[in-house]
Amino acid sequence: MTAGRTIAGTRVELVQGDITQQDTDAIVNAANTTLLGGGGVDGAIHRAGGPSILEECRRLGGCPTGDAKLTGAGRLPARHVIHAVGPVYRDGRHGEADLLASVYRRSVETALAHGLRSVAFPSISTGAYRFPIAEAAAIALGTVARVVRDRPGALDLVRFVLFSAPDLAVYEKALAALPA
Ligand code: ADP
Repeated sequence: MTAGRTIAGTRVELVQGDITQQDTDAIVNAANTTLLGGGGVDGAIHRAGGPSILEECRRLGGCPTGDAKLTGAGRLPARHVIHAVGPVYRDGRHGEADLLASVYRRSVETALAHGLRSVAFPSISTGAYRFPIAEAAAIALGTVARVVRDRPGALDLVRFVLFSAPDLAVYEKALAALPA
């Protein structure tokens, strides 16, 4: 079952699944500042996509926290990977919420700048980076809703791909709580 809402002409969809299997124009990687690979989503993307993604990443010279950079997608079904660097969660008093909002905004802006029309996100920062998922889901969905309202119809689809059923349930609750 797919949960979703249409916001300013863009379908915002929530599914349980694997980010590497999405055939959207871009998938977003939960990367780190080196852009040279890691565990979780990052490891899965480089494993499934093959070495060309890392070769391109090496030429990018890293990426600051809160920002995002685009590469090709190697053997993945998606056409591009947007490498997005979320914050490591410490105690919530080190700008984590603003940095998480920034990473979602910059990821969508990067997709728009390249004329892409569909993007799939994982739950950035809520794995190894330990951002509490209820707050992260509200920030993720709130930020994406704001950006697509600013650019009505520029994107067809933003899909959030949650790895587990409990994570999907948290995102469903956050989506239902977004103002109309
Ligand atoms: P971060 O370092 O930003 O916290 P992680 O990759 O450790 O990123 O985890 C982010 C979220 O992505 C976690 O909820 C994790 O369970 C989930 N995840 C891990 N692998 C995948 C995958 N292949 N597809 C979708 N989500 C995944």
